[in-house]
Amino acid sequence: MRAVLFDVDDTLLDFRGADAEGFGRHLADLRPGLGPAETAAARERWRFWGAHFFARFTGGDLTFPEQRRRRARAVCADLGLPLAAGPDAADAWFAGYLRHCERALRAFPDAGPALDALRAGGIRVGAVSNSGHANQDRRLRLVGLRGRLQAMVCVDDAGGVGKPDPGIFRAGCAALGVAPAEAAYVGDHLDHDARAATAAGLTGYWLDRAATGAEPGPPVVTGLAELVPLFVPATEGSRP
Ligand SMILES: [Mg+2]
Repeated sequence: MRAVLFDVDDTLLDFRGADAEGFGRHLADLRPGLGPAETAAARERWRFWGAHFFARFTGGDLTFPEQRRRRARAVCADLGLPLAAGPDAADAWFAGYLRHCERALRAFPDAGPALDALRAGGIRVGAVSNSGHANQDRRLRLVGLRGRLQAMVCVDDAGGVGKPDPGIFRAGCAALGVAPAEAAYVGDHLDHDARAATAAGLTGYWLDRAATGAEPGPPVVTGLAELVPLFVPATEGSRP
């Protein structure tokens, strides 16, 4: 294996945690005094509309800014929050959430050390993400990981279509100068990451951080440190 490509959200960085905290704080700004049950119900609507409109972005149907605007509008409609007409108002609303989300964003503690150890062992490392390039570039910089990745391919780098389409995985391999058969792919989504990468000719690994062990199929790791001995021979790299 000459390269390892990574999913970004909930693989290298804890986006789910930052999203939940960021939305909770944004909502508290907009409607102070909400109880935990109401906040949890609102967060469920936020997640629902996020998944709905993001799938339309990765399917090539909406632009990245437009999926954000539609998500903001749908959530405001569900929760009875005021939002003026037009894209500027929706963008400003979303920016309020994003400020809180980015403040809460953290890399998983095993991400940086695993990337460094793989590179020290001669393995090329990169990212393939279903988000927009500028967005993921910013997130990875905020958590200190962008400079450790030798390439990053997002939906807008790959003709507007994301995982599970094989094209985006192959574009990631090309960006690192390796063939799909020479690359592993690691991600937290069993179908869109592990199985889809395998279907594209890479070796897909499912990152099962909760160690549910529920699904047979692709090889599984429960943390990123487990990747290092798989790809870096013990006589090389950063080990004594
Ligand atoms: Mg993910």
